[in-house]
Amino acid sequence: MTSTIVRTTVELRSDTFTRPTPEMMAAIARAPLGDDVYGEDPTANELEERAAELLGKPAACLLPSGTMANLAAITAHCPRGSKVLVGDQSDIYVYEAGGASVCSGVVLEPVRTEPDGRLPVHRLAAALPEDPDDPQFAPPGLISVENSHNRCGGVPLSGAYLAEVAEFGRRQGMAVHLDGARLFNAAVALGVPVTELTRHADSVQVCLSKGLSAPVGSVVAGDREFVDRVRRIRKMLGGGMRQAGVIAAAGIVALDTMVGRLAEDHANARRLADGLAGIAGIEIDPARVRTNIVMFRVVDDRFSHESFIARLADAGVRLAELGRGQLRAVTHRHVTAEDVDRVLTEVAALLDPA
Ligand SMILES: *Cc1c(COP(=O)(O)O)cnc(C)c1O
Repeated sequence: MTSTIVRTTVELRSDTFTRPTPEMMAAIARAPLGDDVYGEDPTANELEERAAELLGKPAACLLPSGTMANLAAITAHCPRGSKVLVGDQSDIYVYEAGGASVCSGVVLEPVRTEPDGRLPVHRLAAALPEDPDDPQFAPPGLISVENSHNRCGGVPLSGAYLAEVAEFGRRQGMAVHLDGARLFNAAVALGVPVTELTRHADSVQVCLSKGLSAPVGSVVAGDREFVDRVRRIRKMLGGGMRQAGVIAAAGIVALDTMVGRLAEDHANARRLADGLAGIAGIEIDPARVRTNIVMFRVVDDRFSHESFIARLADAGVRLAELGRGQLRAVTHRHVTAEDVDRVLTEVAALLDPA
């Protein structure tokens, strides 16, 4: 018999690589099911009720992805031709294939994002016409903010900042949408109930499929009339799912059991950042790491970011490139503190081959 040493890959490209827990698989197997397009899937209905309650909104709707959730929310808020203020580093602007422009017919106006993920209110104001009634301008529609902010390194935005945006939105007659793909990471990092972050927004989308480990799904929450519109738009986009309880069953377990443990992912991200900061050839500010995302650069003439990613992949460590040579490592349920130490050993071995 031959023996082989199996070294599993440390997957740091994204928390979307998390697989469903055994408890989720068991819940899927026993979930009562119906046709959710008829509103008759009891498990999907239960998830939507639980999510609405948790997010502090009257209603919620399950969608297949965060991308569709954002698109449906934007479409439900805004007539065609409206202006939607988004961060120039936001997922909606950068990574959603321009869907809001193509499908919703809105004018996406990118607003320069602070390194900490905020869109300062003065910059939101500068992106709006002085006279919104002047027919040459697109009418104001929606402001969208992202929390935690992915491309800014997973920084959480505080309730105090979100309150400022809400106040500005109210004055302008614009709704506020929260792209909370990782909202639970933000709430855990800030040590506040998630409702402290949602109460300033008219709508919110959260991903069940990232650090919460469900295989598929996002939820949009808001008031009842808004969620009814989201449901119709979901059907229009092809996101009406029949026995959606198969997905929702895992989502319920995700909401019930996976939020508290996100603190572990944050501690591992901090451990990774602190370790990387001690390796020559890595440029990183560990103080910026607040949740499960670690952003850094390799500054070593022997490597481009591509060759660095490739060499680390050979060593069993997968990282993502996030534009302009920035590297991203995301911690999640399948990354342990020992894995982090192994990553640090591999990175040090590559950069100091002494
Ligand atoms: C991942 C993500 C989305 C999109 O979610 P998908 O389920 O991948 O479509 C939207 N917004 C943010 C901030 C994200 O990180």
